[in-house]
Amino acid sequence: MSRLPLTLTASDILRECPDCGLFQAVPALRPAAVARCPRCSATLRRTRRNPVAAPLALATTALVLFAIATSMPFLDLSLRGYGRETMLASGPLALGGEGMWEVGVVVLGTTMLAPVARIFGMVWVLAGMRMRRPPRGLHVVFRWVELLRPWSMVEVFLLGVFVAYTRLVALATVHVGGALYALAGLMLVMVAADAAMDP
Ligand SMILES: [Zn+2]
Repeated sequence: MSRLPLTLTASDILRECPDCGLFQAVPALRPAAVARCPRCSATLRRTRRNPVAAPLALATTALVLFAIATSMPFLDLSLRGYGRETMLASGPLALGGEGMWEVGVVVLGTTMLAPVARIFGMVWVLAGMRMRRPPRGLHVVFRWVELLRPWSMVEVFLLGVFVAYTRLVALATVHVGGALYALAGLMLVMVAADAAMDP
């Protein structure tokens, strides 16, 4: 009976080389490091240069942008002297008022609740990692951050707003409010934060 000569620590990851299939333990890497396959030199893992501070700064920015998006006017419509100002929450509320509360809940969840929960979770985990004694359960929060990723649909919502805008300008005078710019900024900042973070 022979045993594997290597003992895996919690931070080592057993990985198969995508190019040659060699199984190997990839050790925990320092920032801006690359692990290559010893047999074929394929890249096994590459770490970000600043895996905590950069995504933390971006996630905090996202939180500020979200606060702006929920507090400022979204779209301003005026038609034959009749004007109406909408907020980010106006859509779900109007859907609820029309008896389509299920759709309203989904819109509210995917455009506001899931994104804000994700951003809060990200800030919590990244800020916690910078503490001398990180709070417990960071991995549980981070699992939720990843689980909420497909439910955070700010970009889909913005695409819908763009389509609605092109139709509405033909009918009424439409003024774009600060919330829409903040939401567009939020989308970009979240993409950047996801790219800068090393799961
Ligand atoms: Zn290889």
